Amino acid sequence: FLPHLIASLEQVDQTYIMVKPDGMQRGLVGEIIFRFEKKGFKLTDLKLFKCSKELAEEHYKDLKQKSFFPKLIDYITSGPVVCMAWEGVGVVASARKLIGATYPLQAEPDTIRGDLTVQTRKNVVHGSDNPENGKHEIGKASYAIQFNPNTCNKHRCEL
Ligand code: GDP
Ligand code: MG
Repeated sequence: FLPHLIASLEQVDQTYIMVKPDGMQRGLVGEIIFRFEKKGFKLTDLKLFKCSKELAEEHYKDLKQKSFFPKLIDYITSGPVVCMAWEGVGVVASARKLIGATYPLQAEPDTIRGDLTVQTRKNVVHGSDNPENGKHEIGKASYAIQFNPNTCNKHRCEL
């Protein structure tokens, strides 16, 4: 029982972290990477790209019924984003703590959203909400970004 418990506590996971267009525009990429590095997580992949509408809709498909969905998709496709894969023990839940609450006015100080924004749509960064989604989102992003931006299908990836 005990070795089993310890093994599950030491599970190395991956999470998908995406700096949203406001974070890019405001020059907060370094600040965000700094916080994850300081915590001790490992950056395993990184790419700057502009998200297509179809990928954005897939990424946020759970929110399709929400009134803010169309604006969320317009916003997330409005400029370049930074896609990152981070790895480490408990990285998914820990990253969510480092990021802070969805509504920045409810996010604690010392979190990314608590320190850096007041706007819900422009809340700087995305982080996967469970390990399964982490793997799925990294897979989708790496599929979308494996194309050379100079030669890729413009519909999927416009830089
Ligand atoms: P997250 O996992 O903390 O990013 O939150 P969700 O997965 O619930 O929502 C995805 C994103 O949609 C959030 O990060 C916000 O940018 C946006 N969002 C969520 N709820 C609202 C809302 O009530 N109003 C607006 N305008 N945007 C929202
Ligand atoms: Mg979410």
